Amino acid sequence: MPINFNRVKFIRSAASPGDFLRDGRPQLAFAGRSNVGKSSVINRIVNRKNFARVGASPGKTSQINYFLLDERAYLADLPGYGYAKVSKAERDRWGRLMEAYFASGLISWGVLIVDARHKPTADDVTMADWFYDTGCPLLVVANKVDKLKKSQIEPNLEAIRETLSIREGDALTAFSAEKGDGKERLLELLEGTMGV
Ligand code: GDP
Repeated sequence: MPINFNRVKFIRSAASPGDFLRDGRPQLAFAGRSNVGKSSVINRIVNRKNFARVGASPGKTSQINYFLLDERAYLADLPGYGYAKVSKAERDRWGRLMEAYFASGLISWGVLIVDARHKPTADDVTMADWFYDTGCPLLVVANKVDKLKKSQIEPNLEAIRETLSIREGDALTAFSAEKGDGKERLLELLEGTMGV
């Protein structure tokens, strides 16, 4: 049965490991730098305008938001990183939460959203490495591809592949949350993560 991505509900936010969901369903962990368009990508996937909050306040940087997809898998929306104006206390909270989640063994698939226009940041590279360390497969989504000329897409994807040292077998796909470019391919890849 194909996944019905429209069938989605918010389950809860986790601010500490005690709130992590542990019912055995696969968890797709979505990570990305603040403002990369992670919320917009999630909204596009589930066909809602304001499901994951776009431009969410930077104060909400230390919680994982869990959504249940078609009763089959969790989409775990990880707090964004790299936002300059976050306090040290908040950044530390973020670090502790991420460390616990990445060590929990709960991640089935990583989905890392990067900006298609730029070379991934040092934080993006760190995040990819954290996913590699879990041993789970990683899917990299190069978002905002609508801002590129056609001729720039392939070279930029290549630079992303190289900078993140994307492994053989891990997918990298161009996407536009704004325009919907690449949606079919992304849904196909996500279905693959859930064993469809
Ligand atoms: P988040 O902080 O990663 O959750 O990012 P948001 O989803 O809040 O998006 C940050 C900004 O980027 C917003 O102004 C979005 O409208 C814009 N944005 C997100 N995705 C795209 C895209 O694919 N193309 C363009 N041009 N803008 C985008």
